[in-house]
Amino acid sequence: MKEVFRLLKIIKNKIGYPGIRTLQSATGPEVMIEDKRILMLGSYNYLGLANNKEVKEFAKASIDKYGIGTGGVRLLTGTMTIHEELEELVSDFTKQEDCITIGSGFGTNAGVIPGLMNLLGFKKLVLARKAVIFSDEYNHASIVDGCKLSDARVIIFKHNDVNDLEKKIRKYKRYRKLIVSDGVFSMDGDICRLDKILDIAKEHDAWTMIDDAHSFGVLGERGSGTAEYFNRSGEIDINMGTFSKGIGVSGGFISCKKDLADYLRVACRPYMFSDSLSPAIAGGIIGSINYIKKHPELIKKLKENADYFRTNLNKFGFNTLLSNTQIIPLLVGEDKKTIHFFEELFKNGVFAPAVRWPAVPRNMGRIRFSITSEHTIEQLDRALCIVNSIGKEIKLI
Ligand code: PMP
Repeated sequence: MKEVFRLLKIIKNKIGYPGIRTLQSATGPEVMIEDKRILMLGSYNYLGLANNKEVKEFAKASIDKYGIGTGGVRLLTGTMTIHEELEELVSDFTKQEDCITIGSGFGTNAGVIPGLMNLLGFKKLVLARKAVIFSDEYNHASIVDGCKLSDARVIIFKHNDVNDLEKKIRKYKRYRKLIVSDGVFSMDGDICRLDKILDIAKEHDAWTMIDDAHSFGVLGERGSGTAEYFNRSGEIDINMGTFSKGIGVSGGFISCKKDLADYLRVACRPYMFSDSLSPAIAGGIIGSINYIKKHPELIKKLKENADYFRTNLNKFGFNTLLSNTQIIPLLVGEDKKTIHFFEELFKNGVFAPAVRWPAVPRNMGRIRFSITSEHTIEQLDRALCIVNSIGKEIKLI
């Protein structure tokens, strides 16, 4: 296995090994890194709830009542009333019938997709049709891995190109079909064309699965996600989301029809074979969703902040691709230049990650800003001023 170390050497010497910046404080609009106060413009803590007092109180009270661990998996000894309370809350919030929660968003995608497509290996017994998944080319790694774990054929359609999807789906009349897409794309910040996807799915008898990792707590007036944004709440077959971003905690979920949830309880392996959410996490999520319900102004503020930052980047002449959400890529291009931009930002007290191949296509390196509702205009202006002068210095604008 010495190939592993040979590869590591190549990564370190040629591709570039990611330098991890450790936070010495809770996350927020400003954080402590290397004993310096740094403006954080790269966090998924979109609504600032990761360190919210009320949410933390809820998590603490849940520890007091249920302890820290659950001591089991959901189907055996790990289901507590707090999990049922959480799942009811999410079903209700997303206007679906039922919900299952899983330890991480990654595990949710990696488990639900094969759970659905593989029919527990009983295909011959139930005379199942062949299965095919249609997946957007920019879908998250966890969807890609979920597809790999399934034994369905996987067809990639061009990013957000519903014509390409339709052209491809026509060829699979007799198959069981699943269309899967990010709601908000994590590297580009654009929104999937859910209205068209739902129409295509209906016409071609396909199921839909939308990953609301970056849209749960964010899109729609109530923040319940992509379906609400398109006024199609309850219409996605598998409404997937994470609690690790807008909600500010961690964990993943799907909400769907009751029968489908019942099936996945015995077919989704991370649900069946991995420990249930700890009471602190479950309690924190409940606290956070209830907080969002009481404070819809956070969602409005997030959008205002994101629009302000993006508009100003565009005025300076930067390319922010097709972003129209709180994820704002600033296209740099070459990897070296992207890393240089990142380092200069950091030297000037701004933290926003550099994203490079293989996370994005080659020569499409970018600084990925993510804006939160907590940022003040003064903080955003400070960052904009620094970004503008670095951009000029490296002749990007
Ligand atoms: N889906 C998308 C679109 C994501 O961006 C992420 C995380 N970056 C995940 C799923 C995985 O979620 P989690 O971090 O909660 O495991």
